[in-house]
Amino acid sequence: MHPCALTIAGSDSGGGAGIQADLKAFAAHGVHGLSAIAALTAQNTRGVTAVHVPPATFLRAQIDACFDDFEIGAVKLGMLATAGVIHAVADALESHKPPAVVLDPVMVATSGAKLLADDALEAMRTRLLPLATVLTPNLPEAELLLGRGIHDGSDAADALDQLRAFGCQAVLLKGGHLDEGDRVVDRYGDGHADATFVHDRIDIEGHGTGCTLASAIAANLCLGLPLPAACEAAIDYVFRALRSGYKPGRGTVAVLDHF
Ligand code: PLP
Repeated sequence: MHPCALTIAGSDSGGGAGIQADLKAFAAHGVHGLSAIAALTAQNTRGVTAVHVPPATFLRAQIDACFDDFEIGAVKLGMLATAGVIHAVADALESHKPPAVVLDPVMVATSGAKLLADDALEAMRTRLLPLATVLTPNLPEAELLLGRGIHDGSDAADALDQLRAFGCQAVLLKGGHLDEGDRVVDRYGDGHADATFVHDRIDIEGHGTGCTLASAIAANLCLGLPLPAACEAAIDYVFRALRSGYKPGRGTVAVLDHF
């Protein structure tokens, strides 16, 4: 069967992040993309103007339709918006048991728009982290999940085990928000192997990089790569796609070039 990956995430009407980025990343990896839309954003390169969350029963119907027909190699979770959506997604994953779950704990957009309700953080910790094969937080998201600051590389290294204590199998902590000179250091830990992936900082304000990274990891897992290699290849993919990124709107942000 053709490899299939499912994204359960938010839609970005501006085509740069969310479901739209996920499907482009899946396609670029030769993986058939399925989507269950958990939230809709009215959005462009200048920001988010409105959010609509469809009923949880309709989200569940989308997820069930995908699992009822396709052999799903990996699920990517992105913007889930509310505690109610998180519970619906956790229930669906517990019943369908996909082989891999990549959890991007989306909370706040680079533009500052809030993409997760405050009271949903605890549901994210208790319901979704235990179901995640790999959690891919950026620094602010890791700080909110842990309830403490991460100020340097050694705090970041410690955060890997502390995040795994919530029950996820592995963590890829993205280093883009940390000042480590002209390099970006992403840190990976799964309790057996630790790794750091280092690349040059690209001086572009990118939109949709986190979504794309998590989707590329999911696609690589569908293609049979082991987890650390799936993460490393996905980081390289985002680096290349961002380097050739372009500005499709009047805002300052660039979107990734997937092809
Ligand atoms: N919109 C949606 C639907 C998203 O899922 C995300 C991030 O995950 C964003 C916007 C924000 O993207 P960025 O912070 O890369 O601009």
